[in-house]
Amino acid sequence: MQKTVTFANGQTLPAIGQGTWYMGENAANRQQEVAALQAGLECGLTLIDTAEMYADGGAEEVVGEALKGRRDSAWVVSKVYPWNAGEYDATEACERSLSRLQTDRIDLYLLHWRGNIPLEETIRAMESLQQQGKVRHWGVSNFDLDDMLELWSEAGGQHCATNQVLYHLASRGIEYDLLPECQQRNVPVMAYCPLAQAGRLRDTLFSEPVLQQIAQQKGISVAQLLLAWVIRKEGVLAIPKASSVTHVQENAAALKVQLSDEELNLINQAFPPPQHKLPLDVV
Ligand code: NDP
Repeated sequence: MQKTVTFANGQTLPAIGQGTWYMGENAANRQQEVAALQAGLECGLTLIDTAEMYADGGAEEVVGEALKGRRDSAWVVSKVYPWNAGEYDATEACERSLSRLQTDRIDLYLLHWRGNIPLEETIRAMESLQQQGKVRHWGVSNFDLDDMLELWSEAGGQHCATNQVLYHLASRGIEYDLLPECQQRNVPVMAYCPLAQAGRLRDTLFSEPVLQQIAQQKGISVAQLLLAWVIRKEGVLAIPKASSVTHVQENAAALKVQLSDEELNLINQAFPPPQHKLPLDVV
């Protein structure tokens, strides 16, 4: 059975989506990137994550091209720069993103990271965009537990649909406090860099003997093992970026990989869960 994640509004999505960081940087790769995203949609990776930051809007343009004629098959997430997340600038930033995405709505619009604009103002801006129908839902990214507690204490802050944070096997800090709190409040966590692309430990992960051994025994790749591990817990959705159809199909197949208690124990011995609070890891 495929793993899914359900948002507070009742929307259920496959627990693996598609990232787009570094897409749209080079025109020569564009068709391959479009094809990869479309292949992802065809094999059920419905959520596509992008941001106004990626390639200065170029990644949103790639997504827009990939969505031509198939907008309804996707759930589009984009992110606003912190300095654009004020009452006036947010509308303009959102409209620029909509135009690059060639769509009339963003399914989930996130504050990319916390900046100087007060949270209450960003919440008002997000709720206003929602009322105008430009965004369906809103959320945040790179918020540690103290930021989330502050957000939840603001009027409207409980409407936050997700927190997108760095999470992979070599960076398990959120398991100590942030993840349990989000799970308790039914706020799904979106795991970025699930393959440790930007992590110091990527090479270690892919060549770790325990992971190679488990993957080999299960007849899967280490990448699939890493993704299955990230989405093993309730309310966690992984957004690996893949710019080849082969990688996309491999990642989609990870939705069905189940890990046994014995396998999880072996993984825990090599990569122990946190025993105390760790500051949120960011890229
Ligand atoms: P990932 O951990 O997703 O790693 C991406 C890398 O893994 C790429 O080099 C890709 O190669 C490779 N890859 C993908 N699938 C496979 C596979 N099956 N086997 C082997 N290698 C594979 O890193 P990202 O940094 O891209 O994170 C994912 C997404 O999260 C981003 O694209 C972005 O959308 C989001 N993000 C959000 C942040 C935030 O601040 N909110 C910060 C960072 C990321 P190839 O492209 O050649 O397929």
